[in-house]
Amino acid sequence: MSTEASNVKTSPSSSNSDTCGLACRRCGCRHFYVIYTRRAPGGKVVRRRECRNCNKRMTTIEQER
Ligand SMILES: [Zn+2]
Repeated sequence: MSTEASNVKTSPSSSNSDTCGLACRRCGCRHFYVIYTRRAPGGKVVRRRECRNCNKRMTTIEQER
């Protein structure tokens, strides 16, 4: 009898380019529309996002690699 559970699905790596762990503060939704993307000084990217669920808008600033 072999009880081998070869389901090695651990790390989701870093392939989630859209929402990187971001969640809406109001409803907890993780899906956003990106209204615009803009480059900021210092190699940063500013994104204006809108929650698909409650339409709350927020701005995220990401460090570009
Ligand atoms: Zn929301």
